[in-house]
Amino acid sequence: MQNRIVIVGGNAAGVSAASAARKRDRKANITLITEESYPPYSRCGLPYVIAGDISRFEDLLIFPHSYFQMMKFNLLTQTTVKHINPNEKHIIIENTDGKTVTISYDKLILATGAKPFVPPIKGIKKREVYTLRTIEDGRLISRQVVAGKHAVIIGAGFVGLELAHALSIRGVKTLIVEMVPQILPTLLDQDMAMKARGRIEEKGVMIITGKAVDEINGREKVKEVIVGEESYDADLVIVATGVRSRTELAIQAGLTIGSTKGISVNQKMETTIPDIYAAGDCVESKNIITDQPTLCQLGTIALRQGKVAGINAAGGQAIFKGVLCSAVLKAFDLEIGATGLTSNNAEKNGIKTVSGRVRGKTRAEYFPGTSEINVKIISDTSSSRVIGSQIIGSEGVAQRINMLALGIQKQVKLEELVQIDACYSPPVADSLEVVMLSAEMALQKQLRKSN
Ligand SMILES: Cc1cc2nc3c(=O)[nH]c(=O)nc-3n(C[C@H](O)[C@H](O)[C@H](O)COP(=O)(O)OP(=O)(O)OC[C@H]3O[C@@H](n4cnc5c(N)ncnc54)[C@H](O)[C@@H]3O)c2cc1C
Repeated sequence: MQNRIVIVGGNAAGVSAASAARKRDRKANITLITEESYPPYSRCGLPYVIAGDISRFEDLLIFPHSYFQMMKFNLLTQTTVKHINPNEKHIIIENTDGKTVTISYDKLILATGAKPFVPPIKGIKKREVYTLRTIEDGRLISRQVVAGKHAVIIGAGFVGLELAHALSIRGVKTLIVEMVPQILPTLLDQDMAMKARGRIEEKGVMIITGKAVDEINGREKVKEVIVGEESYDADLVIVATGVRSRTELAIQAGLTIGSTKGISVNQKMETTIPDIYAAGDCVESKNIITDQPTLCQLGTIALRQGKVAGINAAGGQAIFKGVLCSAVLKAFDLEIGATGLTSNNAEKNGIKTVSGRVRGKTRAEYFPGTSEINVKIISDTSSSRVIGSQIIGSEGVAQRINMLALGIQKQVKLEELVQIDACYSPPVADSLEVVMLSAEMALQKQLRKSN
């Protein structure tokens, strides 16, 4: 009999699940439902369309229509799943005409993603206050981007910084206000955040940390924001204060929600109700180092989790082991990446750490185009295991982060990291790999501590 796999949410996790299920079961009846009007697209590219690096929002659509036909997916756009009945194994969908239809499933995958968190600030409902999650959001913001205008971005996470890049290279005077005392608080330690901040401020972006936006003022249009005693001009405000998992359907269906407010799943991406899987931004993941539940709402993770859910829903056996939350972003000429725990986060989890931080070069010192790269390596003093890294530079950040992510997953120790058999050629790499040098520094500190 044909396996009826129904997937709620047609973006990274949903499409990845559908594609993996199709590879495993060529005959399965696969339905992919999304309330958005577009087939899957890359949210990650939205800031770069606003920046003008990519010409059109449509360029972010990941697959042509022919892909869905070729894969024999039944793709329903502009369709909202309103209800799940796990006992009868059916869902109720509603299209734009308000018509409802019941669809039965054998396996259901929830890939409902996340939505922007909007803090309760006075004036936050004004028209020129935006969030960035969808193509529609991107278009609304883009229309407001006019050189000489003033923008205030609330939140200095990765979306906030990417937007600061986008707005300021289009001539908008940009201010970022971050409530905690540093930028990128989940990604970087304070020392590395200071380095990144300096480089971003050099580009003309003003940054306030350790203070919240208290009020957004303006009669008909947004005019200013109030931060403490000060007021700042604002023609538009963008709220980039993180996202919250979309769990309304999961709660209605009776699935267990974890302590982080994401859907609880096991390593097979199974929820607490049989034949219902979940993946992506809507689920809670397990941190590989601490074993603790965590929210890591990244496209990379959504894709990998979706794949596991899809294989299993199609009768296969796949496992998702957990996350390190490896991430990278580019703002101006700066690449900022991180994997594993920050020192700060490690301490909060009761792990004593030692770290090495080194400034190196991306190519031979004398080679044209060489640039500075800052690498921080963090290790657990009790085991010498590498547990985190943060890297800031103009090139070569992403692949170093990937290398370190594998090292952390493989429980590499500082003593092993200093022995990397690294490559070298003047135009592409320096003779002494900066990751190795940072590990060496951490190791020396560790040896000093233990003597
Ligand atoms: C501006 C921006 C930049 C980003 N940059 C990066 C990056 O550089 N690298 C990175 O790894 N990640 C990045 N991310 C995060 C990444 O986009 C998300 O982690 C990823 O989109 C999660 O995929 P998902 O499929 O789990 O959820 P989503 O992409 O949120 O998709 C869920 C879909 O389900 C639909 N849905 C929800 N409920 C229902 C329902 N009841 N009925 C029908 N449909 C429903 C939603 O409308 C949505 O289309 C970025 C995000 C943003 C917003």
